Amino acid sequence: MERLLGKNVLVTGASSGIGRAIAIRFAREGANVAVNHFRDERGAEETLGMLSGGRGFAVQADVSDETQVGAMYEQVMARLGGLDVLVNNAGIQKPCASHEIEMADFDRVVSVNLRGAFLCARNAIRAFLKQGKGGVVLNNSSVHEVIPKPKYVSYSMTKGGMENMTKSLALEYAGYGIRVNAVGPGAIVTPINLAWINNDKARAEVESHIPMGRAGSADEIAGVFAFLASDEASYITGQTIFACGGLTLYPEFRVAWASGE
Ligand code: NAD
Repeated sequence: MERLLGKNVLVTGASSGIGRAIAIRFAREGANVAVNHFRDERGAEETLGMLSGGRGFAVQADVSDETQVGAMYEQVMARLGGLDVLVNNAGIQKPCASHEIEMADFDRVVSVNLRGAFLCARNAIRAFLKQGKGGVVLNNSSVHEVIPKPKYVSYSMTKGGMENMTKSLALEYAGYGIRVNAVGPGAIVTPINLAWINNDKARAEVESHIPMGRAGSADEIAGVFAFLASDEASYITGQTIFACGGLTLYPEFRVAWASGE
């Protein structure tokens, strides 16, 4: 399939995990991909080495820094000649009991996950409006957009905020041919989950909570992003598609509680 033939795409945080899988998938579908990274030149080069089809190049920027994001967009426009799709993928988490959180850690998570996503979206929308042919903004959210996450409150707050950002921007720019959507992954095998992916016991514990009984792969998430970026999703805006093996279905209700049945 070449649903993204000739599309110019920027993927943030594409030097590893889901961002890398998105870059690979989009290039396979014919897109030219700007691979953003934050101090991970090696990871970005590895991603570039895995791209087939379209063109690709690496661009360094901290997505939370306005000056760096501005410089990144200048490079993207100069190298690709335009922008059709932004994928806001960069994200971090800093687990800690909420009453013990250092505000610097809290601020960093909010800056990268939410401020960074908005900043990149703002600049993408400016480019789309200037080009006058619409565009697509996709946000990598999480099941924690709707499911609370104790000890990860800064993370789940940012993903909850991402839902409203997705809807608000979708509504504001629907009349300009700009679609804004999000994907909400569940537990996916990527470096952000090093705490359990390579530990059989911990992984079994995680997977026991997932209705489909397994963690997802980055490629399964990239496929949803490719669909939303393509014209197959031309009438979808302001939505989050959860790709989570059923995690958002209140798994505790799989069996009837004390209801007499
Ligand atoms: P990851 O750690 O491999 O990817 C995060 C990427 O963001 C890295 O490439 C990192 O370098 C980059 N990054 C961090 N700070 C940055 C900054 N300031 N500027 C630019 N890039 C920066 O983990 P991942 O699982 O691939 O995470 C990608 C996204 O997926 C995140 O937004 C995360 O919240 C989301 N997500 C992941 C899972 C999961 O289970 N893995 C589930 C739900 C949502």
